[in-house]
Amino acid sequence: MTIAFIDLAAQQARIKDKIDARIQTVLAHGKYIMGPEVVELEGKLAAFCGAKHALTCANGTDALQLALMALEAKSGDAVFCPSFTFAATAEIVPMTGATPVFVDVRPDSYNMDPESLKAAIIHARSLGLNPAGVIPVDLFGLPADYDEIETIARENGMWVVADSAQGFGGTYKARTTGSIGDIATTSFFPAKPLGCYGDGGALFTSNDALADKIRSFRVHGKGSHKYDNARIGINSRLDTLQAAILLEKLAIFPDEIIARQRVAARYNEALAGLIEVPRVGNDRSSIWAQYTLRTRAGQDRDAIMAALKQAGIPSVVYYPLPLHRQTAYRDFPQPPGGLPQSEALSQSVFSLPMHPYLDEETSDTVIRGLKAALS
Ligand SMILES: *Cc1c(COP(=O)(O)O)cnc(C)c1O
Repeated sequence: MTIAFIDLAAQQARIKDKIDARIQTVLAHGKYIMGPEVVELEGKLAAFCGAKHALTCANGTDALQLALMALEAKSGDAVFCPSFTFAATAEIVPMTGATPVFVDVRPDSYNMDPESLKAAIIHARSLGLNPAGVIPVDLFGLPADYDEIETIARENGMWVVADSAQGFGGTYKARTTGSIGDIATTSFFPAKPLGCYGDGGALFTSNDALADKIRSFRVHGKGSHKYDNARIGINSRLDTLQAAILLEKLAIFPDEIIARQRVAARYNEALAGLIEVPRVGNDRSSIWAQYTLRTRAGQDRDAIMAALKQAGIPSVVYYPLPLHRQTAYRDFPQPPGGLPQSEALSQSVFSLPMHPYLDEETSDTVIRGLKAALS
């Protein structure tokens, strides 16, 4: 038996007829760029998360870049992002001319540490940079500490872009990710909680002026029409075919969220006490993009993962090297004390198979395999 880390085939089997029909509709009407399915999807995405505007684009990285373009990030600006994240979070900052300044994460949630953010702001000012914005990440699907981060941002005149590439579908207090921050972004990369069959992304905002700018930037900075160039933009649209596929996936997403919670709860119950299981504050819910464990002192991650592999159980390390240690990013500023939590996590975390179609028998196999690996 082979266990899938993420089982996209099981989901496809469930809705294949509907996806096929949607694809046939697109082939029949032929509006491959910005077709009616894109408009329908944007309406449904906005309704799902409670944002006024949902704007789709080509991928989650472009979504972040479009957000920073709309917020006018520029040379001399400091944009704060965690070091323990996927590279795209920081990658788009120098694209705008701004400087990414790394912030450490909390040891319990793995998300941006508001105290480290405060220290990084002071440090950025000492370097002559203007604190302009912050990009908290909903790492592994868990919403960041938005109240604390938004308060710090307000006090310093900064905007907040929520990188919910992994977190779309999670909740934070009375809010749903997507409706948080000046702009929130997500990714529809196939392995994300809500994924399409290729690349895709979206931005969310309730600010009309920002929405208008994003609409312009994603189509070459168009003004009143396509051949009126009001600003320098990019070409970043979601294909109509991908929107059609996403419409059917979004329809079953609420049901999949419940299934993800069930899988995570089963893991948590069996593994708590044996290894560090993910902690979710009772004011929020994770969408479980990943189910990530952390080893305790004396537990050897590499040996555990090797034993799992022997038992046919896949596990993956997200992320083996924090960004501030990467060749491309190591010269950007970080707080004076360094980023010890990001470094410790990169040495101690690993993720188990997680998807809505992981049945009890399979999760029990994973649990048994891990218990054996730990003993
Ligand atoms: C996947 C991801 C992105 C980028 O999304 P793409 O669609 O792959 O461009 C950005 N940020 C985080 C945290 C991600 O996990």
